[in-house]
This record gives sequence, C-alpha cells and structure tokens, in this order.
Amino acid sequence: MSEELVTSNNTGPSRLANAAPTRAAGLERLNNFASTGLKSYTERRNYDYGPEDRSNISALSPWVRRRLISEQEIIETLLETFPHGAAEKYIQQVIWRTYFKGWLEQHPTVWNAYNEGVMSGLNEVLSDQSRARLYEKAITGQTGIDCFDSWATELMEYSYLHNHARLWFASIWIFTLKLPWELGANFFMKYLLDGDPASNTLSWRWVSGLHTKGKNYLAMSSNIDKFTLGRFRMEAHLNEVASPLTELTEHPIQSLPRLENLPSDDFLLLVTEEDCNSVDLAGQFPVGALGLILSEKSAVFERSDAVFDFSHGAVTDGVERISSTGEVLICEEWAEPIIDLARSNKVTNIVTAYTPIGPVNTKLQGIKPLLKNAGIKLSFVRQKYDQTFWPHATKGFFAFKKSTNKLVQELAPFAP
Ligand SMILES: Cc1cc2nc3c(=O)[nH]c(=O)nc-3n(C[C@H](O)[C@H](O)[C@H](O)COP(=O)(O)OP(=O)(O)OC[C@H]3O[C@@H](n4cnc5c(N)ncnc54)[C@H](O)[C@@H]3O)c2cc1C
Repeated sequence: MSEELVTSNNTGPSRLANAAPTRAAGLERLNNFASTGLKSYTERRNYDYGPEDRSNISALSPWVRRRLISEQEIIETLLETFPHGAAEKYIQQVIWRTYFKGWLEQHPTVWNAYNEGVMSGLNEVLSDQSRARLYEKAITGQTGIDCFDSWATELMEYSYLHNHARLWFASIWIFTLKLPWELGANFFMKYLLDGDPASNTLSWRWVSGLHTKGKNYLAMSSNIDKFTLGRFRMEAHLNEVASPLTELTEHPIQSLPRLENLPSDDFLLLVTEEDCNSVDLAGQFPVGALGLILSEKSAVFERSDAVFDFSHGAVTDGVERISSTGEVLICEEWAEPIIDLARSNKVTNIVTAYTPIGPVNTKLQGIKPLLKNAGIKLSFVRQKYDQTFWPHATKGFFAFKKSTNKLVQELAPFAP
C-alpha cells in the first residue's frame, strides 16, 4: 500500500473525532478519497486494518450524518470524476444510508419500539446479577472475547468502528452474549461519531434478523480472522449457528409526512445537527439563523463528549456559513429562544431542514404547539434528494436499489 494511500484518508493518531466538524473538512476528505482511496475501495473495503489505518474506506460518515456533505453531492462528485462502474460499489454504500433513512421515515413505530426496548432491556438485564455483570463487561470491553473487547475499547476511544467490525460486534452481542440488541444499539449511539437513528437501529435489526425477516448475520471466526489480517486471538467460541430473532409487533408502513409549503415572507433559519448545510434550502436567504443543540441526557439518549463536541461544531459551522451574527445554543428548552429571536427580527416564520425520525424531531414536534400559540409557524423543508428517493424505500434494500438506479444515473452532471 502506498504511503499516500495510507495517510490520505487516515484517522491516524489524531483520531477522527479530532477532525474539524466543518463542511470544508468534509469536502476535503471527500476529494482526497475520490482522488486516492476510491480506486481500491471495491477490493479492500471489507478489510479492517485497525483504528490507525482507514485508508481503504472514506470515513466520511460523521460529516454525512450531519449533512455537512450530502449523499447527493457525494454521488455527483464521484460520477463527475469516474465512470459509473468505478464508483458503483461506493455509491451503493451511500445508497444504503438513503434507504435506511427513507425506510425508517415510513416505519416510525420501529423507532418507538427501539426506545421502549432500551428501557425494557435495561430492566431485564439489571434485574439479574449475572446478566448485569455480563452487560457491564460488554460495555467496558472485558468479556474475554478478544476481538469484541478490542472493538468495544476502540469504539470508546476512537468514536468509530469499521463497518465489518460493527457487523461482527452486533452479531456477537446478540447471538453469543445473548444481550438485548437494543442495548447494543444504544451503546453504539452513545459513542459513534456517526450515530444515526435510522442507520444504526436498522443495521442492528438487520443483523438480528428483524429487518430482513428470518435472515440474521452470524459473525464467523474464520471471516474475522481473514478480514482483520489475523489481528485477534480467535480461541473464543462464537455462536455461529444461531436462529434469527423474532418479534410479535408488526410495523406497518405509513405515508411520508406531507411536504410543507415554504413561507413567502421573511424567515429565520433554524439549524440542527440533522442538517448543517441548509443554507439554500428555501431558495431565498433567511434574515438570520439560530443553531440549537440538545442538552438533555437520558437512558435512551446519551452521547459521549466527542459526539457532543462534533455535533456542536457542525451546527456552529452551519450557522456561521449563513450569518456572522447567528447564535448557537445548547439547551433543553427550545421554544423560548426561537420565539425571542423571531420577535426581535420581527418575523413569524421559522424554516428548518426536515428533521428525520430521532431525538431532534421529537423535540421540534413537541414545541410546535408552543410556537403556534406564539403566532410562529415552523416549516420543515425536505431536501429534493430525499423527496425523490425516500418514497422508494418501502421493501428491502435490493428492491430500493433497483428502483432508484435510474435516479442515481440522473445525478451524473451531464446526464441527458
Ligand atoms: C450494527 C451497525 C451499526 C451501524 N450504525 C451506523 C450509524 O449509526 N451511522 C452510520 O452512518 N452508519 C452506521 N452503520 C453503517 C456503516 O457501518 C457506516 O456507515 C460506515 O462504516 C461508515 O464508515 P465510512 O464512512 O468509511 O463508510 P464507507 O464505506 O466509506 O461508505 C460511504 C458512506 O456510505 C454510507 N454507508 C456506508 N455503509 C453503510 C451502511 N451499511 N448503512 C448505511 N450507510 C452506509 C455512510 O454514510 C458512509 O459514510 C452501521 C452498521 C452496522 C452493521
């Protein structure tokens, strides 16, 4: 592997969490990856070389998660530079994210069930001493399963895990340690710099056999050994023949929330960690911007300092690119600062990029009536890309991929 490749997209000793949470840094990373890393992505992406070498993948997820850069611009950039074949595998991975976002949006009960599952999982585990001990060992990296312990520690230190390690970790958590999957997903949400309600919840459900019903993902010692280049002691016995999990609850498909009309009058832009590049969303410039960050902590919503800092930096970057006087507040009570700023700017319209299912959306839906009482209208504007792709995310990934293939081609800059 060339020196350039190793260093160009490396988390390196400085760690991903220390990278700048800005659009400029995300774009630079994308361009580095497009010019060096992409060439070997298809062949090498499944190898986990360890936390100090991420040269074979893009490690762009923390920026994509906050929409500092969007799926659409990644696809456009790659199709501009490469014939579709060369970028196909990478674009497919980006499309996985789009699929999960669209699917969860149309199956919102899955998110509610996950939140309830965290609470019931905690109660269940903590009410039994030996299960409580095992859970504690799992989240501190002391189970005695060498690879699993190493990934638990890596996650807490580096705020990132390779996709293959996430699959193996989740599978061992569910089928070898037999811990509730929701607690594993919650552990990921606390520490992953890219922790995302849709990608994370649905990936854990996919591993468990709940997403593609009846088909689970089993971590195999031989596979771990091969794709980590023998970095771990593999003497621990992994459960390599487990049956998929099942659930009694049905999660019926629901229509996507309706599209909202843009205000024709002046408006303020609200920036949240769900979309930190919403500057041209409304097709006109806002009179001001406000950034809000969730401050609360609970059993189902906790994040490490690294995750919090990255989100804070991303929202600050999003606000600063719109307005040099825009404020960013970390607070539990969101209605008041919005109402105050609207009044001081003499506007009654607030626009924010559509907030997909997750804690920010829950917060905003909760304060909507308060804003309405104060005469303020909050509009959620969906990005055109989401509007176009999400309605196709109704079944499995491969059906989604097939039905969106043409839409992806149309993102090529010179597409007819
Ligand atoms: C159990 C489990 C939990 C996960 N939790 C998250 C999560 O909370 N947030 C998250 O963004 N991804 C999650 N993933 C998906 C995937 O592991 C990460 O997106 C990927 O590892 C990020 O690294 P990268 O940017 O180098 O990816 P690359 O391989 O370089 O891919 C490019 C981009 O495509 C998207 N992407 C790639 N693979 C996937 C995938 N399988 N599912 C969804 N999007 C994908 C990401 O935005 C990523 O940045 C999870 C996967 C598993 C198995």
